[in-house]
Amino acid sequence: MGGVPKRHKTKSKVGMRRSHLKLEKKNLVACSHCGNLILPHRVCPYCGYYRGKMVIDVFAKLTKKERKLKEKELKESSKSKESSKSSRQEQS
Ligand SMILES: [Zn+2]
Repeated sequence: MGGVPKRHKTKSKVGMRRSHLKLEKKNLVACSHCGNLILPHRVCPYCGYYRGKMVIDVFAKLTKKERKLKEKELKESSKSKESSKSSRQEQS
């Protein structure tokens, strides 16, 4: 026989234990290249960039159609980034 609990756990004790069993909010930062929300200190899974360099070729696994769509997306996001940059320069 294995271990058998000596006493039953009260509802209160069960509740106390379970108060810690919850999902915690993940800390996300915006990718410096495409602006998607990613985990900090990780390569961006959307554009494959890390610290301004392309680390992963995200197009390698995609079909031609998907590749076109993704290239379009990345271009648009980089465009919006540039516009935000220029607006910042205007302010300063
Ligand atoms: Zn990215």
